[in-house]
Formats: sequence, C-alpha cells, structure tokens
Amino acid sequence: MPDTPQSQAPQPSDAATPATLSAPWRTAPGFAELGAQFFTRLRPTPLPAPYLVGVAPAAAALLGWDAGIGSQQDFIETFIGNQVPDWADPLATVYSGHQFGVWAGQLGDGRAIRLAQAETATGPWEIQLKGAGLTPYSRMADGRAVLRSSIREYLCSEAMAALGVPTTRALSIMGSDAPVRRETIETSAVVTRLSPTFIRFGHFEHFAAHDDVAALRKLADFVIDNFMPACRDDAQPYQALLREVSLRTADLIAHWQAVGFCHGVMNTDNMSILGLTIDYGPFGFLDAFDANHICNHSDTQGRYAYSQQPQVAFWNLHCLAQALLPLWLPPEDADQEGARDAAVAAARAALDPFRDRYAAAFFRHYRAKLGLRPPAGGDDKSDEPLLTSLFQLLHGQRVDYTLFWRKLCGISSTDASRDAPVRDLFLDRAAFDAWVADYRVRLRAEQSHDAARELEMLAVNPKYVLRNHLAETAIRHAREKDFTEVDRLLAVLSRPFDEQPEAEHYAALPPDWASGLEVSCSS
Ligand code: AMP
Ligand code: MG
Repeated sequence: MPDTPQSQAPQPSDAATPATLSAPWRTAPGFAELGAQFFTRLRPTPLPAPYLVGVAPAAAALLGWDAGIGSQQDFIETFIGNQVPDWADPLATVYSGHQFGVWAGQLGDGRAIRLAQAETATGPWEIQLKGAGLTPYSRMADGRAVLRSSIREYLCSEAMAALGVPTTRALSIMGSDAPVRRETIETSAVVTRLSPTFIRFGHFEHFAAHDDVAALRKLADFVIDNFMPACRDDAQPYQALLREVSLRTADLIAHWQAVGFCHGVMNTDNMSILGLTIDYGPFGFLDAFDANHICNHSDTQGRYAYSQQPQVAFWNLHCLAQALLPLWLPPEDADQEGARDAAVAAARAALDPFRDRYAAAFFRHYRAKLGLRPPAGGDDKSDEPLLTSLFQLLHGQRVDYTLFWRKLCGISSTDASRDAPVRDLFLDRAAFDAWVADYRVRLRAEQSHDAARELEMLAVNPKYVLRNHLAETAIRHAREKDFTEVDRLLAVLSRPFDEQPEAEHYAALPPDWASGLEVSCSS
C-alpha cells in the first residue's frame, strides 16, 4: 500500500466532486473492446491536495487543448486521478514479459490506468495515468510513481518527440505531497501519457503463456485492424505483423543509437508493439561517448548497455515471435516436426528483415549526421570504415557525443584552420586530425558545399538533449515547489535543433557533480 497517511487520504471523489472536464473529442472503446480477460476496470486512487507541475503544450495540442488548461482545477483533479470524467472508462491491462533475459510471468499495469481512448483530429490517443494507485497487477508494489522519475518521463517523452524519435507522449504531470517510500521517502506524482496504444510485446507473451490462442488472435487482429491494416492484405497477416514490428523496432533502435539514447531497461514488457519508445525509467543520453555505457545502475551485467540495444531488441523480437507462433502453428500440429519446422522458418523469415533494416536506418542516420549523401550505386556499407574509425576515436577519447556532432556541423571540407571548435574536444588532436582528413576526402569526393551541408547537419544533430544533470536540476527545484525549471527545460528541449542563445548553458558539458548521479530502476 502507498505510504499515504490514512488521515490525509481522500476517498474516491466522483460522487462529491463534479467531474466536469469536457473534452473536444469523442471517445472510442479502443482496448476495452477486447473484452474483460484483457483488463480490469477500476478507478484511480485519489491523492490529497494535488498541484500542477507542468502541461506540455505540444502534447496538449494533440488533444485539442491549449496548455493554459493546466490552470483549471478540473484538469488537475482529472489528471491526478481524483475525479473521473464521464468520457472516461478507466482500466488497467494485463501483460507478462521477460525481464533481464528471464521469464518474469505476469506483470501488467501495476500503476498505470487508462482513462479513455480519444478520437482526435490527430488520431486516436489512449490517455493513461501513470502512478494513479493500486491495480490487480501491482504485485508487491504501491501503485505510485515518485516526482523524480515522473519529471524524467515527462521531459524525456516530449524531448524525444521533438527529436523526431517515435515515442509515447506526456500531456501533464501532477504532484501530491503524499509520501512514497523508495530508498528514501519521496512525494507522489502522476504523469498522463498518450499513445495510440500501450500494447507491449508482453501482452502477446501473456496470452501465449496461457496457451490462449483465441485471445492471442484477438489481440493480433486488434493491432492489425487499428494500426497496421496493410498486414491484412498479406496472405499471412500474423507473420506480416511480426515483420512490421521488426521493421519498426529496427528503425526505432537505429534512431536511439543516433541520438545517443540508452533506454536502460529493455525488457519485453517495455517494448511497444508500435515501435515507440515506452516506459522511461533509468534512461540516459550519452555524455562522454562510451560504447558500453550502462545508464541503469541496477543493470549490473550491462545487458542493456548502449552498444547492446540492437541485439537486445532482436532478442526481444524473438520472444514476440515465440508468442505469435501459435497463430500460424495450430496447437494440434505443434508436435509434428515438419509443421513445426515450417512455422519456425516462417517466424525467422519475418524477423530476418530486422538486420538489413537496422543497417539501412543506421547508415541513413549517421550519413545525415556526417552531412554525406548516400553513395552512388547504393552501397549502404561503403561508409562503414569512416564510421568505425570515428566510433573508435570517440570511444578512446571519451568525447562528448552531442557536442561532437553539433560542432562537426561547422567543419570545412577544405579549410583545416576552422577545425578548432570540434578539434578542441579531443585530447589526442593528432588522432582527430587523421580521422578528419579522411572525412574531408569523402566530403570533397561528393563536392560537398560547406554552407548547405552545415544547415542540413544542424537539422539532424541536436544541440539540446535531456542530459541527466539537466533533469536532476529541474527535479531539485521541483522538490522545493519551484516548477519553472521543468517548464523552461521542456521549452528548450522542444526545439532541440535550434540555436537558443539564452539557453546556451543547457548545451554545455555536464558539471563535475553530475558524475555522481546514479539512475536506477527505483521510480
Ligand atoms: P518497469 O520496470 O517500471 O517497467 O515495471 C515493471 C512492472 O512493475 C510493471 O508491471 C509495472 O507496472 C510494475 N511496477 C513498477 N513500479 C510499480 C509500482 N510502484 N507499483 C505497482 N507496480 C509497479
Ligand atoms: Mg514497464
């Protein structure tokens, strides 16, 4: 149970408080149409004396709201979970999953409660409260989220969207001083997340583990019909679904690598069926480049290190494939060797495009980051030596990843005397000189025009990313009830590719104190 003192804990308030927040869209059953075995209907557990920490203007706009709506008490009461508007049909979904490579059995929305599916001009959006109280899937935990991790999820969801990385969104964050016990006593918060669906690989694993092929098929049909209708045209729609998820996941991970994002806890229950970044916990952006960077202090083996993310995604896709297999291998045929081999081969064929798609997306991102055109003849890997030597150099010198790319934008293809801003990031200048000489050869080979290339590179190499110390500073202020830094940081991160002269310090190297920051699964 949460550590909320009973004297403070309000009772479910829908009877007492009019639930008047009106919405400029209609709702659809969405996930609820799947039926009772997929979820439990329940109400959020109220929190005392809620306050607004922030509303994300871009996410509010997706729902047709102005960010000013955050000042309405109805908005606060709704999105902390204290009142349930008439458009809501709150429920928590059941899923299972593999955590750190091991089957973990049933998990589920232990603290997330879906309010509704909004049908908006910008598409369908499931509206979900995270940290809104106990559910049947809370296991031994308290159903709550702390202010610290909620601010990180809120900021990073919107920062990733602004970077162009597929992600769930964050509408708002509300706080309450109701205490929550983690390593220390912290306070509560609720982030309202938006996503077309929150279905994870783990939802499929759940019904596969229960040998419930009918439910599995229902879930697959739901995803296909609502989000991947082209799969229906395939002779094998469920294999097409697996292939589509593989491709989306390949694109997603290549994008993560390119922006230097480490998820930190890539368990199969944290893998979106839509190929979105989901469940921001112990994530981190690279500061000094370390290919083996582990952002999650709880990940003692480095299973989810930066360099491991593509392999782990592929491993997770194998879990999904295993779960989907009964959809094209009926249980009555599962003991027949021939049928089984054919079904497994079909699964492999649906997963295999991951490799080429990942490689293509990887080279597309990094060529754009380098300001290079695709090579004539389409040999995707021809720039591999240039990139490999760059990664070795960045890794060896522990060069700041974001600053390196941003400063590289200003390089000249002919004039080495302009190298200083980027060259000064390297301790071993000679090593940089050797690499940049090769890069210049490549630039001149395609008659690259410096000014045009600089503009293109500035549009793909962000100046601002959510470094840990920036989030930490916003959290420290927020703990003192000053939320202006959350707002300011959100505004800066919403324009990550723009020069923002007044925000220069947000683009600087992390301060010394940041090296002591540890981010763990505790949230
Ligand atoms: P995560 O590692 O945050 O992705 O969470 C893994 C599982 O634990 C999911 O089923 C979560 O819903 C659940 N969970 C994590 N924290 C809590 C909490 N404080 N209360 C209830 N369930 C939680
Ligand atoms: Mg999770």
